[in-house]
Amino acid sequence: MLMKISEFFKNLPRKKCTDCGKEIEEQHECYGNKCNDCLGATLYR
Ligand SMILES: [Zn+2]
Repeated sequence: MLMKISEFFKNLPRKKCTDCGKEIEEQHECYGNKCNDCLGATLYR
């Protein structure tokens, strides 16, 4: 049985922000495990 890569990603669990615990809907791997809000906050540090 072959498994499509798209199917594989569909089955992945949703990420949660490590800072606020909010679910991350669409994030790139390079951003780690933070939501847009926390990512924006870190920019001002
Ligand atoms: Zn967050």
